[in-house]
Amino acid sequence: MTSPTGPAARRLVLMNPGPVLADERVRAALCGPDLCHREIEFAELMGRVRTRITQVCGGTEEFTSVVLTGSGTSAVEALIASVPPADSGVLAIDNGHYGRRMHDIAAIHKIAVQHLELGWGVPIDLASVEAALAADTSLGFITVVHHETSTGMLNDVAAVARVAHRYGRKVIVDAVSSVGAEPLDIVGDGLDWVAGSANKNLEGMPGLGFVCARHDAFAALGPEPRRSYSLDLHRHYTAQEHAQSPAFTPGVPAFYAFDTALELMLAEGVAARGKRYQALAARLRQGLEDLGLRLLLPPEHRSLGLTAVRLPQGVGYPELHRALRAEGFVIYAAQEQLARDFFRLSTMGRMTEQDIEGFLAALGRLLGTTTAVRTEHVRADREGK
Ligand SMILES: *Cc1c(COP(=O)(O)O)cnc(C)c1O
Repeated sequence: MTSPTGPAARRLVLMNPGPVLADERVRAALCGPDLCHREIEFAELMGRVRTRITQVCGGTEEFTSVVLTGSGTSAVEALIASVPPADSGVLAIDNGHYGRRMHDIAAIHKIAVQHLELGWGVPIDLASVEAALAADTSLGFITVVHHETSTGMLNDVAAVARVAHRYGRKVIVDAVSSVGAEPLDIVGDGLDWVAGSANKNLEGMPGLGFVCARHDAFAALGPEPRRSYSLDLHRHYTAQEHAQSPAFTPGVPAFYAFDTALELMLAEGVAARGKRYQALAARLRQGLEDLGLRLLLPPEHRSLGLTAVRLPQGVGYPELHRALRAEGFVIYAAQEQLARDFFRLSTMGRMTEQDIEGFLAALGRLLGTTTAVRTEHVRADREGK
């Protein structure tokens, strides 16, 4: 039997920021044995995955991780819904779509949230963070995105944590698209709570999110305030840490794949993976600029994993997507206010130098053709054809 997604299918180069192209060994691991999640085999698997996540985040033995079945957003939501006590407010730093999402999650759980709206692609202004904390002592937490995937901007979360700690506050970090490749060290950067997911830089399969923090921070979470049932971090921590058993039925195959992906991640090392992505991003960006395309951010703010690019003049995203897909490359739309004029290209996952060269060649051909076609049109118009 063949199917459009079966092994016979043509390999598409995924340039969307997750799920990424995965290593064959990770995909093969999905087909592990059927398993009851209350048996010792799953307890061992889950324990290994938790330990490996903590290692990737740079955590020492004082740190631990909790894995949730769900997308990255479910891990972020579990964090925000579970961590601030009833009498604590949150300062939500927003310089893109995902910062705004953290604000919206806090608001939906009826947490008092102050919105620090900086504008998309605007670096975090530490003075305004500090002013907000000084003015309102009820703001016990700051929410901040490490790699703002809507623009490709890497935020200095360590600097935000230093300001927070000077005022006795804590930081909740969305590191979904940074952990595993961008420089992130939960200890050295002083991050209190970090959320991530399996299918971006960690190169696992979609379906799992996680939270990493100090053991004592998890242990200090109580059953109150109860803002969510299935995304209650206290419940998940208690189950995974004390009963060595997940609170609810987990995505077992995604665990198999994540275990393998984490093993490969730790063997490669975060710095080496960052270097690998850096080389791809540098080649991609140079090639885009050589084609006359403009990048959204100046070099000093760019992540390794994502590049936001201005659409070529007169070319809409849907037609660009369609044409490149026909050549074997999946590009990704920009969101909201950037959607009309920009598109996004990820350099996460098992992409190769050859993929990038192939992409640039395809794009070059396409733009050449597009320009030629447009020139034809103009000439035809002028000649009244
Ligand atoms: C991808 C992403 C998420 C969440 O992704 P899901 O689609 O829920 O897996 C959250 N934050 C950032 C910064 C992301 O890049």
